[in-house]
Amino acid sequence: MVTQEDFERARNDVAYRNRFVDEIELNSTRKYVKKVIYELKNRVISLDGVPAAMQSCPPLRAYFGLSGGKSTIKIFPRAFLPTVHLKLDDFLSTLIDHEAFGHSRLAFEGVDPFLPQEVGVMYEHIERLQKRNCSEQYRDQVLIELRKLLTGARKEC
Ligand SMILES: [Zn+2]
Repeated sequence: MVTQEDFERARNDVAYRNRFVDEIELNSTRKYVKKVIYELKNRVISLDGVPAAMQSCPPLRAYFGLSGGKSTIKIFPRAFLPTVHLKLDDFLSTLIDHEAFGHSRLAFEGVDPFLPQEVGVMYEHIERLQKRNCSEQYRDQVLIELRKLLTGARKEC
């Protein structure tokens, strides 16, 4: 289990981030996720030029509609910026409510885990984050992302 203090430490101490991500409890989403890794180099840049904070990498079988595979979730340095995740619950909401319950679960079910599903993933993400102690800033940001998606301003996960 990780605490708000651990999250603050991981924000300030890059060397601690691998251990921090290892200690996160995935609870019931564990069955969809092979591993969570911290990746210093982020090659995933979205169309609006913003680097991703996290990314689910589905197992190959999911691309062939085969169920039962587990995803790897990558966490990039941007996930530790206060402008992206102000609180631990913001960070956990992106990781668990969006990546694990959303993309990784769909991949596990053998559904194309990406673009066609993003709106549904976002709606569930918003529903699940209500149960967390997220910051106002984060809640607003998630709603803005959904609006961008619905208006076609955003085209990727
Ligand atoms: Zn997504």
